[in-house]
Amino acid sequence: AAKAAGGGCCRVFTDAMRRRAVRRLTVENDLRRALERGELRVHYQPVVRLADRRRTGFEALVRWEHPERGLLLPEEFLDVAEECGLVTAVDAAVLEEVLGFLARHPEGRVSVNTSARRLDGTFAPAVAHGLARHGLPPQRLAVELLETSLVPGDAVTERELHDLADLGVEVLLDDFGTGYSALSDLRRLPVGGLKLDRSFVGDLPADATSDRIAAAVVGLAVGFGLSSTCEGVETAAQAAHLAAQGWRSAQGSLFGAPAPEEHWFPSPAVPADGVRASA
Ligand code: C2E
Ligand code: MG
Ligand code: MG
Ligand code: MG
Repeated sequence: AAKAAGGGCCRVFTDAMRRRAVRRLTVENDLRRALERGELRVHYQPVVRLADRRRTGFEALVRWEHPERGLLLPEEFLDVAEECGLVTAVDAAVLEEVLGFLARHPEGRVSVNTSARRLDGTFAPAVAHGLARHGLPPQRLAVELLETSLVPGDAVTERELHDLADLGVEVLLDDFGTGYSALSDLRRLPVGGLKLDRSFVGDLPADATSDRIAAAVVGLAVGFGLSSTCEGVETAAQAAHLAAQGWRSAQGSLFGAPAPEEHWFPSPAVPADGVRASA
């Protein structure tokens, strides 16, 4: 019986493994093709200053316009991209698109997400080269780094972050508070700002724990002279609460969901009777 149970257990494990491997291979192959054919899109979510709700820029968020499956969110492919090393190519494609966006629109800052894995010594030079090629000041770009992707003591990553900061590109710690939040990171790394994960925003203002965490993180930001942005702000009550705590900037569905460039910068409309009128 034990043997049979063991066998069954083993078979279940194998099936799960096989499904995982098949998904990984399918997504990996599809993603390689997507990169070649240019199926990746960038959606832009506005970032506003809480004091006056003016838009100061956008966060760039990758999407995949899959020919059969429709528009895919990062959660449906980024883990595989990380595992097979394609995330570097994804981030490079997003960066290139964002540089074009910045060149097309003369105002505001755009932040791009990056995995620490991408900070392999080639990222800062690519950013410097890209900015120069498009004639853009480095202050128009920011880099969001997932705190959870940081490997403590990784010298290459740290060097690369310092190179970005020296260049004038602000480094933001993304989803601050969800990882191990080593406060020594703030001392060691050239961090310019903190972003509060939306998991701490969703239950505001009622939830006392979220309230204390949000207050503590903005306290850190102020104490270290860093910028502070909270994400996932969906209600006016949340915005008011966070503003009162001292948060400088915010993003979320209250201010605008991620959307394509044309949504924020519609091209001049062609009059409906334009063709007839000129004929
Ligand atoms: P993130 O950087 O923390 O991005 C914020 C996420 O919260 C986005 O999800 C955004 O759509 C979502 N969000 C913003 N406001 C609201 C709101 O009011 N309500 C709700 N329910 N959600 C909101 P998204 O676009 O699915 O991105 C998920 C994660 O994928 C990002 O989290 C980021 O870690 C990663 N990611 C996105 N684009 C890239 C990329 O180009 N490169 C890399 N390496 N990672 C990326
Ligand atoms: Mg982000
Ligand atoms: Mg975030
Ligand atoms: Mg988040």
